[in-house]
Amino acid sequence: MKYTVLGAGAMGLRYGVLLQEAGFDVDFVDTWDEQVETIRKQKGVYVSRDGQNKHLVPVNVYYPEEYKGDPDVLIVFTKQYQLADFLKRSARFFNDRQYVVTCMNGMGHVDKLNQYFPKERLLGGTALIGTVLNKAGDVDFIGPKGAGSMNIANETEKPDEMTHKIVDEFQQAGLNPNLTTNFLGTLMAKVIFNSVINTLCTMFKIRMGEYIQSPVAQKLGVQLIDEAFDVCERTGITLLNTRQEEWETVKYVSTVSNPLHFPSMYQDISKNRQTEVDYINGYIYDLGLKYHYEAKTHDFLRNLVHLAEFAGTFD
Ligand code: NAD
Repeated sequence: MKYTVLGAGAMGLRYGVLLQEAGFDVDFVDTWDEQVETIRKQKGVYVSRDGQNKHLVPVNVYYPEEYKGDPDVLIVFTKQYQLADFLKRSARFFNDRQYVVTCMNGMGHVDKLNQYFPKERLLGGTALIGTVLNKAGDVDFIGPKGAGSMNIANETEKPDEMTHKIVDEFQQAGLNPNLTTNFLGTLMAKVIFNSVINTLCTMFKIRMGEYIQSPVAQKLGVQLIDEAFDVCERTGITLLNTRQEEWETVKYVSTVSNPLHFPSMYQDISKNRQTEVDYINGYIYDLGLKYHYEAKTHDFLRNLVHLAEFAGTFD
């Protein structure tokens, strides 16, 4: 099938380049001038793995206003706060046949995507792998070939023929998709994971492996997980994991999978970019409020990140 990636940043490039290397037709659409112009000038994107074997991969990149392609599937990887504008600028090439797949972090994107794509053609998921955009036109895939995996679910929770085709092609690209039939539970499991690891590592400028070695890591993590689970229980969201399993996942990823990785929120704040904290800890707090429950630790943490942004702590 033909794929168009909306958001040719770290993760968009990872998914798109892997699909392209597996033999599928891929275009990239981006709104960041420096990225589009650099990729065009150097005739591709520089790709490395864990800092090794940097090589140029030719890719087609377009601004939304000039794109003329007709993809079967759109893969959306913008930051949460960029999405509304990105969709508005790209709507001219959307049609009522296309499916959309997104594995962005946080929550808020599904409602925005539903303004253009009905739930019957929307697949949401979680990307369980790190990728770093070193600078415009230069991306580093964390982990060896075949590393990482993803969960994916239909918003309807009813996989159709197209879903299986997408999952099959993602498998051929080495993205290791795991199809579930629990849409909100799948997405929220990652929101909760990030509400611990992304936010705490960012606040203290530490790698995941450093966080997990701290004697207070479990106390902090479990408190955040407990509050988030309390919110989900009130909303009727059935999570994929138990509270204990969610903590074990945080421990496993920090110790075994990605100990040397700085979470993407840290990458944002260290580059003076806006974070997605309002869509992670902020989302959990705001969701709880709708059900008369205050996830106060999440709100406190969200505000601490905003204080750090305001104070220029990371300049
Ligand atoms: P990214 O910042 O690399 O790219 C997103 C968009 O921002 C792209 O359009 C990119 O061109 C643009 N951009 C990048 N740097 C910019 C700059 N300095 N100024 C202006 N625009 C810039 O984002 P990403 O890491 O690919 O994340 C996309 C989504 O995937 C987010 O929701 C993120 O939380 C999630 N995610 C990221 C990772 C990761 O390891 N990077 C892993 C899992 C999920």
